[in-house]
Amino acid sequence: MKRKIISILLSLAIIIGTLPVAAKAAEEALSPTRTERLALSGTADKNEEEGWEWQPNASGGGTLTLTNCYIRTDTANLLFFDNTIEDNCNVTIILKGKNILETTSQAFNAAIYCSDCSTGGTAGDYTIREEGDGSLQIKTSTPVTTTDSPYGFSGRSVTVESGSIETNIPLAVISDNFSMLDGSLKIHTPEDVPALSGIYTIEGPVNISGGKIDITTSECGFYVTSNGATEDQTVNISGGDITLNSAFAGIFIQGAGLDNPEYETINITGGKISCKADSICLYAKNIHIAGGTQLPQITVSNTSESYPAIIGVNMSISNSIISANSIVSYEQIPKEDCIVFLGDSGQLYGNMEITENLTLPEAGSFTAATGSSITIHENAVLTIPENMELNTTDGSFINNGTLILPESAGNVSCTGTGIIKRGEKIYNTSYQLVYPVTIKKASGNTTTYYAEGETVTLSPEAPPDGMQFKGWKAAPDTVIVTENQFIMPSYAVTLEQIYETIQKPAASGKPSIPAGNRLVTIQTGVMPAEGGTVSKPSEIKTGETITIKATANAGYTFTAWTEDGKTVSTDAEYTFTAGENRTLTALFKQNVPSNMPLQALQVENTVKTVSKAPLPNGWVWSKKDVNKTISAGSSVNATAEYTAGSAADYITSSVTITISRKACEEAPDILFSGTKEHAPSCTTDGLGHTECRLCGETMRDNIIVPAAGHTPGVPVTEKATTKSSGSIICYCTVCNAPASNTEINAVNNIHLSKTTGTYNGKTQHPSVTVKDSNNNPLKLNTDYTLSYAKGMKNPGIYHIMVTLDGNYEGASRLSYTITPKGTSISKIIPTKKGFTVKWKKQPKQITGYEIQYSSKKNFAKKSRKTVSTKKNKTSKTITVKKRNKKYYFRIRTYKTIKVNGKNKKITSGWSKLKTVKAKK
Ligand SMILES: [Zn+2]
Ligand SMILES: [Zn+2]
Repeated sequence: MKRKIISILLSLAIIIGTLPVAAKAAEEALSPTRTERLALSGTADKNEEEGWEWQPNASGGGTLTLTNCYIRTDTANLLFFDNTIEDNCNVTIILKGKNILETTSQAFNAAIYCSDCSTGGTAGDYTIREEGDGSLQIKTSTPVTTTDSPYGFSGRSVTVESGSIETNIPLAVISDNFSMLDGSLKIHTPEDVPALSGIYTIEGPVNISGGKIDITTSECGFYVTSNGATEDQTVNISGGDITLNSAFAGIFIQGAGLDNPEYETINITGGKISCKADSICLYAKNIHIAGGTQLPQITVSNTSESYPAIIGVNMSISNSIISANSIVSYEQIPKEDCIVFLGDSGQLYGNMEITENLTLPEAGSFTAATGSSITIHENAVLTIPENMELNTTDGSFINNGTLILPESAGNVSCTGTGIIKRGEKIYNTSYQLVYPVTIKKASGNTTTYYAEGETVTLSPEAPPDGMQFKGWKAAPDTVIVTENQFIMPSYAVTLEQIYETIQKPAASGKPSIPAGNRLVTIQTGVMPAEGGTVSKPSEIKTGETITIKATANAGYTFTAWTEDGKTVSTDAEYTFTAGENRTLTALFKQNVPSNMPLQALQVENTVKTVSKAPLPNGWVWSKKDVNKTISAGSSVNATAEYTAGSAADYITSSVTITISRKACEEAPDILFSGTKEHAPSCTTDGLGHTECRLCGETMRDNIIVPAAGHTPGVPVTEKATTKSSGSIICYCTVCNAPASNTEINAVNNIHLSKTTGTYNGKTQHPSVTVKDSNNNPLKLNTDYTLSYAKGMKNPGIYHIMVTLDGNYEGASRLSYTITPKGTSISKIIPTKKGFTVKWKKQPKQITGYEIQYSSKKNFAKKSRKTVSTKKNKTSKTITVKKRNKKYYFRIRTYKTIKVNGKNKKITSGWSKLKTVKAKK
């Protein structure tokens, strides 16, 4: 929009206070340049004042240039290409400035119509583009009340290359093919009239690769129907920014799944689609959504509880961002995931993460295709309904959670540590029947599934203070746990740990060493019981050197031999000379807590400090590391320490862990919320930043967003008068500042080409010149109109009204006098007393004659005399007193007319003089 920007200081209060009224007045002031249909033929034609030029070409069509053209009629077919244009009727419409096609008709027909086309289209290809800055508004000024209202185009195809098109007419574009490359298209049809679609095509395809589309309708945004034959009912979207608000459907291909299934397709490979609909957002037999380097961004939401937002029979979705936040009946579906309704042979392609509970709502089939993956996360549940076929053999299907299948399902191929439930039976992912082992714990029960015959290894929890682990109590009691292990039966098992109080060894004096070669009792024990084993000679006699040996079980380390609570050796092999009976206990410690974390830990992007990284129960981050920050996409080392009450029972109770934080993901929107940041206004650049969509950290800073430029609203015209100049001001619709100002010069010169004329028997209309203060002529019938008085033929005084119009106002009255035709003296005959004067008769449009005579050639006032005669006389006798003296004569005609009720004489010019001497 390059318009003359002027800087006028206007009080803001005045702008705000007066703009609405002024704007309204301006809208009323816009007047049509043409008030009848513009019919175009095979012949070139133009009318600059009306703002159009038509140039046919040899190949069956032509170029129509509209320059501030405003056509308003009470019919449809405002632009009519007649059948002298070749069959193709291939028309390019070039838009310059603001153009309007307005009809007051409700008759069912098109604003732009090619006579060789018929509904369904055999001719009429329209290409629309702007030159400079061009727009086209197609509208009805009579409120639309029925679906039989005029629509935008009738023809075979419409291609919008550029320019701005806006319409309130329902069914705005009717043709076979609709394409949009760039520019903008706004269709808002009345909300209270049902069944009005934005873009309605009898066939397809609809191709959108760019531009901005904004449709609000009471039916569909795009409605692609069919004549019944095999037609390409395809909607292809590879770019653009599409906003649809529809009372019924967003993109709707009629007969989806019934008529021509191979053609009823919505292909989305790019662009941004935002659709709100009462019933369905996307509806077609085939829906393929697949992004490349650009991910299509699709946001759909409907209010219906009967339909999902997207309905298709054959569907594939990959590399796309789809969200459907307001689908009432699909609440369980994770918001980030692809959300689909799967019909008879529907398929879901791509990667699908199931992190919550997801119940597929309808029958059909669910396919993980080659290269795709479905992952059920821990604690998530995927439920496949009865009648749905689940086919996962070609893709990757990882089940770490729970997959609930109908009893009728076949075997499902998946991997992972999850389970599959079918009716009463439970399987692991290799499809063995499994049974639950439930361990009762103070911290809550845990359940793990095992197949029949598997060895189940149990890990006892640390015992309470003063207690030691004694063993397991199993239910049913047919299960025998030996050394923390048992073989899984074909039924569910519940286990509980049993503890006992630690018995202090009896404190007493050392028994005396029996003398001689008698047997000595060396009693050994193990603490804790599962820590290890002890070996000792089977028979010991006094005086013998003996060695007892402590051997740690896997996961344990020997620490010391004790006797009466005192350490007697820290060697596993303890050698001494047998004397007295002894009671020795081998002490073991578990190497590490059973839930020791791994040394590598990957955390979500939202985890910014070590303190937020998860650890198993009983573990904490060391104080020196807990406040370390973790940069996005990198890692830090931190030590985890086991601080549960029994920490001293372990050899090692700390571990150094490398924590890796996932990388940030930049959200697409530029934000302006920071201090010193601000959104762009019309005239100033914005300063903003982007954030990570996961953790909210700033990713790019100091982003300059160029000023948007003013958006000129409707022009407000202050008309010029004969006294003052006027102006046309467009105020910005965003900030109210004047976006452009064009001065209209005052009118200061209104005059007739001449103010008098002589009666000639014909009507006399003198031309009028109207000029502005810059001496530029104003245009007749645009800037002013003329009204000549009636008649203007016979002698009289007449008025011409000049009425200013268009950008001017005021009026001026000009006078024009038609005088009678004169005559001449034919003869003067001297007589005794004076003269007889004779003249030529003037037969038309006079009242009489005036003869004037004088002794002075200059007819000085005191010397002259004037006599009158009626119009039927042609001679007059005049008496003079002075004899033998020269007299001068002249004659004129006159006509008496009424001016404001009074007689007024209009005279012709005087005749030539005649000189005669009076007799002696
Ligand atoms: Zn982040
Ligand atoms: Zn502005």
